[in-house]
Amino acid sequence: MNFASTRTPDHSVALGAAINAGLAPDGGLYVPERLPQLGPDDFEGLTRPAAIAVKLLEPFFAGEPLAGALPEICDEALSFPLPLVATADPRLSVLELFHGPTAAFKDVGARFLAACLDRLDAEPPPTVMVATSGDTGSAVAAACAERRRLKVVVLYPRDGVSPRQEHQLTCWPERVLSLRVNGDFDQCQRLVKEAFLDRALAATMPMTSANSISVGRLLPQMVYYAAASLECWRATGQRANFVVPTGNLGNALAGIWSRRLGLPIGRIALATNANATIPRYLDTGRWAPGETIPTLASAMDVSNPSNMERLRHLFPGIEELAGQISAHAIDDVRIRDAIRRAHRRLDRAVCPHTATAYEVYRTLRETGDERWIMLATAHAAKFEGIVEPLIGTTVAPPPALTKLLERPTRRHDMEPDLDSLKRQLEAWRRFSRH
Ligand SMILES: *Cc1c(COP(=O)(O)O)cnc(C)c1O
Repeated sequence: MNFASTRTPDHSVALGAAINAGLAPDGGLYVPERLPQLGPDDFEGLTRPAAIAVKLLEPFFAGEPLAGALPEICDEALSFPLPLVATADPRLSVLELFHGPTAAFKDVGARFLAACLDRLDAEPPPTVMVATSGDTGSAVAAACAERRRLKVVVLYPRDGVSPRQEHQLTCWPERVLSLRVNGDFDQCQRLVKEAFLDRALAATMPMTSANSISVGRLLPQMVYYAAASLECWRATGQRANFVVPTGNLGNALAGIWSRRLGLPIGRIALATNANATIPRYLDTGRWAPGETIPTLASAMDVSNPSNMERLRHLFPGIEELAGQISAHAIDDVRIRDAIRRAHRRLDRAVCPHTATAYEVYRTLRETGDERWIMLATAHAAKFEGIVEPLIGTTVAPPPALTKLLERPTRRHDMEPDLDSLKRQLEAWRRFSRH
């Protein structure tokens, strides 16, 4: 299948090229030319996420040189459990997406993207550039560090990440260049964009983006929606409703695509933090991203979600969009309350991002037997500085996280300008050649 740019529909390329490029040349985002139809019957007998993934993603890989490797790619990328766990509330289950190497759902997309990039023909493969507010950079670094052909440059803001997040951004071999930028996340993101536009740099160092604009991260995120909704459907004959902690809309979009494909999904509710651009848009019809507000759910501190462009492409009118999703903003006071309440009522430690979803679930649940699945996007131990004081007990890090926290770290400091970035890249290239 081909992938078209959201801005120039007749510019379309094969999936491999879309993954390699990241962003379309016109600045648009790649979207599948059509969404195939796949209902529950098509998945009969399939229960393992990797097996569901092959069935689900086959149509998108049709005609693509990577198609033959799809089963391997799915096995390698989905090498950790994605359990749907019952809670003390009979209508609520938690889909735990934090059992991967860096304890956040970003591992799913990052590992799939790395498995694809590693197999593309480009020689050498493009250097993966990623600006991160915390979880993306570590997931991409971890995924690429396993693969000898791949190199990664991670830019993160000096004051925007938790100590454990920083450790996860900087504990990698030399093929991963970790740059601590004396600036904020927006400056990191701007630097990456400038690097892409710099012809001289692109000529010496082909690059690709691993930010959530990459279709190689979005497609595999549909897999856990498929697996969880099928599990619910087979057990109860009901469509599951999902509530999704939302920042850049990558996770939510995968859910919306999955429902469009024909998976048994009911309502999709988005939970944002105080950066309420999406809920405000649905309420007022005005798209008005403001300044980004720092919140406890920092991985969702996004005021201008990049995947809105894909969502608009799918549902151009606001009424149409409002019929597809609801969106609700949860401020820090309610995030704190929700962390405490989840601990009390569900006996679970939830991260601040997951807490926004729990709070939205509480406002939406109705009497009756509608079933809800809440996505748990990160392990609470990644944000222990916030969570532990609220619940009055320690949260043990999962084994994968403990392993990373034992590794030595290395990072370089830089100023937020392109010349500094170029100097860092040059030194790194010279160094890694020996
Ligand atoms: C990235 C992230 C989110 C937001 O996901 P989007 O795809 O950007 O909407 C939510 N929670 C956690 C823990 C994250 O790392």
